[in-house]
Amino acid sequence: MKKIFKIIFSLAVVCIIFFFFHSQIEQVFFSLENKYLPCSRPITYSIGSFDDRFGISKDEFIKVVNTGEMVWEKAINKDLFIYKSDGSGVLKINLIYDIRQEATEKLKEIGITVNDTKASYDELKLKYNIMQTDYFNSKKSFELQINLLQNRQNAYEKEVSYLNENGGASKKEFDRLNTEKRALEVEFIEINKLQTQLNFDVDNINSLAIVLNRLILSLNIEVNKFNTIGDQLGGEFEEGTYKEDAISREIDIYQFDNIGKLARVLTHEFGHALGLGHLESPESVMYRLNNGVNEKLTIEDILALKKRCELAL
Ligand SMILES: [Zn+2]
Repeated sequence: MKKIFKIIFSLAVVCIIFFFFHSQIEQVFFSLENKYLPCSRPITYSIGSFDDRFGISKDEFIKVVNTGEMVWEKAINKDLFIYKSDGSGVLKINLIYDIRQEATEKLKEIGITVNDTKASYDELKLKYNIMQTDYFNSKKSFELQINLLQNRQNAYEKEVSYLNENGGASKKEFDRLNTEKRALEVEFIEINKLQTQLNFDVDNINSLAIVLNRLILSLNIEVNKFNTIGDQLGGEFEEGTYKEDAISREIDIYQFDNIGKLARVLTHEFGHALGLGHLESPESVMYRLNNGVNEKLTIEDILALKKRCELAL
């Protein structure tokens, strides 16, 4: 009797643990399976966080994700991933809106389109240099003007308080000071406009710097990173990342210029999810930089997948 009670109690404990930690347990199980029995069962995936500021609907996004999935599956004619619309997928795909996409959009607003080509990079670099020179000139003149204005304001206030302490102003003095007061107000409105324009310029220059830094990385150009004005933005710029630990697997997408590029990033990250590392050849989808234009797998990609899935080469 005691024994039966013990068994029931143990089972209950196991059930409770499973109830509270089933998603973590599932993740650990999948990690082990992925490690020791790769490609044996399709990896389930769902959309995690989705930001609609990218201007792509969730349905469209899922379609592109599906394209990325199919690229691998067609290569070896095997189900490698399964989409779970109820959100229960082990692998979460997140569309995260951040400064990179914001910068691209901001440039679009002022009529600058970005392409992932060296020519586009050179053109943007030229614009960056011109805008930066203009900005520093305007800033210098702004600082000069604001200094002059501040001196005028101080002189005005000094005179007003002197007259107040010495029995007030004559009609003539009063009229002159009133005129000066109004003139100062107009000047301050103008200088505020200038300040707003300068802030706008800074935003655009920073957007250019962010986009240029991304291009340096994706085109593999050997130059120093562009500085932004004001706060420094560190870190590497990637369009997407794959991360995996004991309890979660995630693909984060940060930036894309067009659907073709998005599909390619997703295919690359799906490759990582399958356990593939980076490949040497720049044409490969699994090359460390997303600089290719086609989203087809190269022989090198296919061989890596076959090796990973323990299929005949
Ligand atoms: Zn990668």
